[in-house]
Amino acid sequence: MKVLQGLEPQNVFDFFEQICAIPHTSRREKKLSDFCVAFAKERGLAHTQDEMGNVIIVKEATPGYEDVEPLVIQGHLDMVGDKTAECKIDLEKDGLQLRVDGDYISADCTTLGGDDGIAIAYALAILDANDLPHPRIEAVMTVSEEIGLLGATAIDLSICKGRRLLNIDSEVEGVLTTGCAGGRSAYCRIPVKRVKRQGICVQLSLEGLLGGHSGTEIDKGRANACVELGRFLRMLREKAEYGMAEFSGGVKDNVIPKSACAKLVIGQEAMGILKETAAEFEKQMKAEYGTADPDICLIVKEQGQCELQVLEEDSLDLVLDALNLMPNGVQSMSADLPSLVETSINMGTAELKAEELSLNESIRSSVTSAKEQMARKVRRLIDRLGGSVEFSGDYPAWPYAKDSKLREICVELFEKQYGRRPEVTVIHAGLECGILSDKIPGLDCVSLGPDLLDIHTPQERMSISSVARTWEYLKAILAYK
Ligand SMILES: [Zn+2]
Repeated sequence: MKVLQGLEPQNVFDFFEQICAIPHTSRREKKLSDFCVAFAKERGLAHTQDEMGNVIIVKEATPGYEDVEPLVIQGHLDMVGDKTAECKIDLEKDGLQLRVDGDYISADCTTLGGDDGIAIAYALAILDANDLPHPRIEAVMTVSEEIGLLGATAIDLSICKGRRLLNIDSEVEGVLTTGCAGGRSAYCRIPVKRVKRQGICVQLSLEGLLGGHSGTEIDKGRANACVELGRFLRMLREKAEYGMAEFSGGVKDNVIPKSACAKLVIGQEAMGILKETAAEFEKQMKAEYGTADPDICLIVKEQGQCELQVLEEDSLDLVLDALNLMPNGVQSMSADLPSLVETSINMGTAELKAEELSLNESIRSSVTSAKEQMARKVRRLIDRLGGSVEFSGDYPAWPYAKDSKLREICVELFEKQYGRRPEVTVIHAGLECGILSDKIPGLDCVSLGPDLLDIHTPQERMSISSVARTWEYLKAILAYK
């Protein structure tokens, strides 16, 4: 039974519904990739599919458009698979249960994958149509974007003649993205030694933080739970002796940690100091984050007498220095685009294991040399603390082009259709455009898309009217000559 039947543009929603019926979370895009290949075969369209599942489908220009520059249309095949706790749907095997509510399409208890299924639906609808005028279309559909832009990194674009690319992976209608940051992950390890210590066991939890995406929300001035709990522990160490048995916080390098916890072993006589310091620390949190992150609280739980393996004095200092001295948050703002964060770093996870402290840091910058300098600071600091750093997942920035013909066309056609200027922006997060422009020198890119709300969560929804307007907009861009 078709849930989206009757919605316009019919062909786009029809392909979108077919996409939603095929499981396609990251690393499990093979079926959807094969579906796109079968689509191309049925229509006799030239295509490639690589081992990972990246697909490129080519459709020649319609009459009168043979001399217009080819256009690459690009989106990613994978979606983030998230669901509510009660949800019975197996995102690896089952299709989504679509639902229409007013102007919005969502999926029952799971992510919808409008990010980025709508790009694939638009691309298939364009390739399928025989009434749309357009230049040579090269539809590039990548895998595993959501887990580190893996498909875009590996894809071979030699079949593509296009030197201009429309990426359909932005979530706000009326916003044209024209540049993005590059990034790199740093995995830091500092060896530690332990000794036995007896005393009162105290569990500390720093909670109530808002967290957020380490790229797009790093400018919100929110606290980082690992960093702030590290600060509390340094404050406490200035006043009292204690042993640290455990420390952990955060879930992923590209997420600002919302909580962190530690287990201490402390003498009875220092309990009063610990409580005073906790109260003092909470006051500081209110003063510094009262507006941006108002509900931070430090929970202190006494757990009775215990004997645990805690950090040796020197190791405790190394761990506290790592948590306190590592640069964190926004490092600089762009002088060219005033509200754009230029360089940032996020301590995404911190975990004290038996013999080492490990930190996962996410570095971003729209300026390559600033990213290098940030990486250098991390490496030198960790060197000083006797540890080692492994860098991985490096991706290039997509620098804002002073001159972009495609951007001019997109702005002009937007004004014509909407009667207002679109917002032209650069984001402090990674997009596949960065990697693709690195592969095709001089590639002219613009990223756009219809309104999607709460992406990457089971509350994700996509505006039907926005999909329709964006379709008209896409058709106008295709027809431009
Ligand atoms: Zn996406």
